[in-house]
Amino acid sequence: MIPLHQHPSGRHFLQIPGPSPVPDRILRAMSLPTIDHRGPEFGRLGLKVLSGMQQIFRTKHPVVIYPASGTGAWEAALVNTLSPGDALLMYETGHFATLWKKLAERLGLRPEFLAVPGTDAATGLPWSWRRGVQAELIEARLRADAGHAIKAVCVVHNETSTGVTSDIAAVRRAIDAAGHPALLMVDSISGLACADYRHDEWGVDVTVSGSQKGLMLPPGISFNAISPRALEASKSAKLPRSFWAWDEIVEMNKTGYWPYTPNTNLLYGLSEALDMLLEQGLEAVFARHQRWAEGVRGAVRAWGLPIQCADAAVYSPVLTGVITPQGVDADALRKLIHERFDLSLGTGLGKVKGRMFRIGHLGDCNDLTLMAALAGVEMGFRLAGVPLAGSGVQAAMAYFAATILAETATGGKAVTDGNLRIES
Ligand SMILES: *Cc1c(COP(=O)(O)O)cnc(C)c1O
Repeated sequence: MIPLHQHPSGRHFLQIPGPSPVPDRILRAMSLPTIDHRGPEFGRLGLKVLSGMQQIFRTKHPVVIYPASGTGAWEAALVNTLSPGDALLMYETGHFATLWKKLAERLGLRPEFLAVPGTDAATGLPWSWRRGVQAELIEARLRADAGHAIKAVCVVHNETSTGVTSDIAAVRRAIDAAGHPALLMVDSISGLACADYRHDEWGVDVTVSGSQKGLMLPPGISFNAISPRALEASKSAKLPRSFWAWDEIVEMNKTGYWPYTPNTNLLYGLSEALDMLLEQGLEAVFARHQRWAEGVRGAVRAWGLPIQCADAAVYSPVLTGVITPQGVDADALRKLIHERFDLSLGTGLGKVKGRMFRIGHLGDCNDLTLMAALAGVEMGFRLAGVPLAGSGVQAAMAYFAATILAETATGGKAVTDGNLRIES
């Protein structure tokens, strides 16, 4: 007999911070027949998704779409703009920043890794994995680089391993204050289309993104948004590249086509995702994620557990990292929750493995999917015999209800103003 707690019916709760759950509307769009990627219909689709992505990145300059995961777009950003042996300044915010650095090393670049030193005494976790980029460290390092050996500064906008964002405009100000010509490259693979992002206004040279996070698509396409300076740098950059080379792609994209076969059905999905995001409006999309994030953080506070992000100014609207009490293996808890409730939570990665788990609040989500996820976590703690300070489910329900009442009372203003915090 199948045990009662196993679920042959009902939906799986994919509550990891990417791949995110894909809305049915997008799944249906992707199920249409594949068309000729050299035909007239395709050119219209190509132009639509390319200009739509410029709106999402908030750029007037070229966006390149690769049939590759985010890691491919990381590589593309570096090989198009840099030469063998170039020095880079990268910043350790967590596991994804660490992986990008490893990739740079494998390409023959010389990345230096900046970080806030030390460990947080209460949790034993590295400080730099609980905070965003400290722009003044970047400024000081660039000032010391009088010969301008450093060719690029690379930072992660939304560090998906920790649930911490970084102030990209502050990084640009730091580079400018040091009077340094380094390019600014930003990984917004998980931040884009969830958190405010402004490629042009923030003076970013290359932004890297991917399909399977805020854009609500399956994995399989990724992006480079490219500034005129980065495009100029690509003309003299010496790292070998062919598949990733911007020149031919940018040229052919002008008519909506690619030099090779693009990911046609994922582009149908992207077209639908762009309609959904732009119909709602990016400000409302960002406010929606901030509200969910605050609801989830309210639950974590009620449980009496630390949030991985120790700086309230840079909480991620995309995911929340939850630190388990000392001695409680976060992965054992995740496994139990998955088996009992068919709910997937994000694992702790790298230096925080086993010490925390991640709740994603992105993709095809709503108040009730999040309530289900929080209920699954709360029941999981109970089954694991971990005492909690209080009910996170109650706290989140109270927050969601209160924000709806406040929104109604203010004609929508209370919520679109962002980060509405209601103390219970
Ligand atoms: C998901 C993610 C990546 C890796 O992307 P893949 O598609 O797995 O290659 C890189 N950086 C960040 C911040 C991410 O969230």
